[in-house]
This record gives sequence, C-alpha cells and structure tokens, in this order.
Amino acid sequence: MRALSICVLLIVFVLASMSGGSLLSTARIEELSRWKAQSDALDGAKLEKTLLEKINARRKKTLEPELQLRVELSAWLDKRGSVPLTQESLQTLLDDVGKALPDYTNIRVQTLTVADASVALPLLETCKAVRGEDMDSLALYAKPSSTESAFDLLLMTGLKTVEFTPENLNARIHPILATTCPSCQSRFALRSFTGGEPCNLVCPECETRFALLVADNQGAYHYVNDFLVGFEPPARFRDGLNRMEEMLQIWRGVFQTCEYKSDSGSDKKLDRDAWQTGPETLNRGVGDCDDTSVLLADWLISRGFNARVALGEAMGEGHAWVVVQNDGHTYLLESTSEPPETADQIGTVSEFAGKYVPEILFDRDACYFWKNGKEPFDNNYFSQKWQRLAQGEAPMARRGQSIQLSIMVGARSGLNRDWMDLAKLSPGAMDWQISWLSLK
Ligand SMILES: [Zn+2]
Repeated sequence: MRALSICVLLIVFVLASMSGGSLLSTARIEELSRWKAQSDALDGAKLEKTLLEKINARRKKTLEPELQLRVELSAWLDKRGSVPLTQESLQTLLDDVGKALPDYTNIRVQTLTVADASVALPLLETCKAVRGEDMDSLALYAKPSSTESAFDLLLMTGLKTVEFTPENLNARIHPILATTCPSCQSRFALRSFTGGEPCNLVCPECETRFALLVADNQGAYHYVNDFLVGFEPPARFRDGLNRMEEMLQIWRGVFQTCEYKSDSGSDKKLDRDAWQTGPETLNRGVGDCDDTSVLLADWLISRGFNARVALGEAMGEGHAWVVVQNDGHTYLLESTSEPPETADQIGTVSEFAGKYVPEILFDRDACYFWKNGKEPFDNNYFSQKWQRLAQGEAPMARRGQSIQLSIMVGARSGLNRDWMDLAKLSPGAMDWQISWLSLK
C-alpha cells in the first residue's frame, strides 16, 4: 500500500554554534537547564493524548469523524526511535511503515523540531496531516533532539482499513477496504462502492480479475456464487426418468414457472441490476436471465448434476445461461427459452460455439475466471483454463432463511393465479409440471 498523501513540515531552530573553549553565556546555561528539565519530564503519551483531544474537539465541530490513538502505530514509531529530518529519510519511513503496517493507508506525516515541546501542540493541531477525509488514526512520537536544546516530534495520521468482505462493504461505514490478490498475493486497498451495479474486482498489479459481486433486492452485495443457496424445489419426479429426462424436466420446470422479465428484480427507480436467489425467483414467478439461470443451476446441482452458471456474451449482448455435464458431454441450457420436446434434443455447447462466449462461471463454492484473457474461448466450460477461486460463504448459513419459504408454484403466464403447494404432492404423483399444468 502506498501512502496516498505526504506532507512535511520541518521547522528547525538552528542553534548558534559555539566555538571551542568559549564560556557559555548565562542565557545559554538557563536555556540548557530548562531543556534538561523539560526533556526529563517529556511524556510522549501525554502529549499524544492532549493533541488527540484538541484535534477531535475541532473535528467534532466540523462533523468530521474523530481520530483514534492506535497502539500499533505508536509502538512502531517508538521502536524506530527517530524522527526523519530530511525528505529522503521521511520517504524511507513511509516505505517502512507501509511494509510493517500494511493495513494502514492514507499515511500522512508531519515532523517538527522545536525548542520547547509545549509550543508544538498548537502547530500540530492544525497542520495538514490532521485535515482531510479518509483518516481515522493518529500517533505522536516525541523525543529530545540529538541537537541539544530542541525536541523532535513526529505526527502520523492514517486510515486503518478493514478486510474486504461483503459484510464490511455492506456495513457502509468503511470508506476503504483492503484485500489480497489470490494470484500474485499483492495487497491493495479499494474504495468502498454502493449503487447496486455488478462489480468486478481486478488486481492492479497483475490485472487478474478475481471476484464478481452483485447486489440483491435490498442493494446488499454478495459474491455471485452466494446466490446459489442450495435450493431444491420440493418437486416429484416420475419413476424411471433417465438423467437427460430429469435435466429436461428441471429446465421445463424453471421455464414454465418463471415469467421472463428483463431486469425483473431491479428497482427501476434505483437503476440497479438486482439478483435473486432461486427461492426468491420461484416465489415471485418472475426473473431475468441471471435469476432463472441461478434457479436452474441450483436445482440441477441439488439433483447431483455438475452444473455451472455462465456469464458472458450471447449474440453480442450480456447474458447468463447454464451448462451441465452428463455422460461426457456438456449441455447448454437456456433458462429463458422454451426447452425442446425431448431430452435427446438438448443441445451440447458445441452447437452454440461462437454464439455464447462465457467470461465468468460459477457454482455453489467457487467462481471460475478465464485465465488467459487474450486466448479465445475453446468451448470447454470445465477445463483447467478456468482459474477456480473458492469464495463466498456456506450458502445455507448465509441465506438459510430464504430456503424456509413454503414453495408455491404458479402459472407462468401470470394470469392463472391458482397456486399449488408442491410440498403436498404425494411421492407417487406424476412429475410435478404435469400435475400443475392440469390446474389450468
Ligand atoms: Zn494480482
């Protein structure tokens, strides 16, 4: 992390040089004894506390967030035990603090050399290092100067960043968060974001994309794979279905149950693309391509299929779809299109080559990022060319509440408002879509 802003003030009281052998004047003797008494009594911690109180009193008036004393900053300065008095040594200090305390950013430093420590406070209280936004930490270091009759002081302010997690982001109280690139391990800070637009995290060092966050209906961000909450609608399947037929039934279930609506979950007034979990989409009966893909993939995974949601471009537009492995083939299921009549008509990914180009894939536990951005997609959704990054939380733990919904499935047209509680279907019933369609 680099210090974003540096300001320096060097006030050096140059002492008159004394020629060897000459007698000290009375004034000089008094000055030295006063300094000796002061330096014996110098209490850095007390100075630091007084300075903090004065600064916070002023910040309170201007409604700026108050600063806090940081033990680790003070301890580091004490251990270092020197005050840089040149531009060069100051830069070294900033580099060192960056390495030693990487969770601090926006480090600002003010140095001061004064003949009397008590006059330092009014100067430090209003210096540039304590003004400005995005700071919450303060430490002061004071020591008798190596030049006799003077005191060196160093004031350091900064912002202690918290670890980037969706929870810390959604708390909306941390202006800057810190994270580590999983590819090159470099540590960097990022500015908090709100607004609900999908957000890619890209490493500034190696330019690898390593996380995608999207917002739910409340505007809270989650890792994209956290929308796969481990949901399986309580449907009944006809005995004797083969795996391809089961896949088709699930696809048909999603298509017939959820009306397609572009950007359905979003609040138009807030202009955001809100994502829904499977239970939310099924309960509302409405979803856009990402919502229905999430429902479809979650259901397929619950039934033991190896399925992933793909995000990318289809026919030149941003889109979401589902890919599933079965019997050595990868099938592409388009949740917004009517499924074919029979399972043997389900298309493999090769039939969609060039038309569907994924950029990010995800399942319940991980996100997959195309490793070599320059290399064109080779139509393999499950190869090692996708970098797997496990992220998100155990879905049940995080969003378990939404799984407790009583699942009611209604007509896709939106006109038929007869609902049927699938949980009440008997195990011997025909597959659930047919039972449901008979309601019409
Ligand atoms: Zn990196």
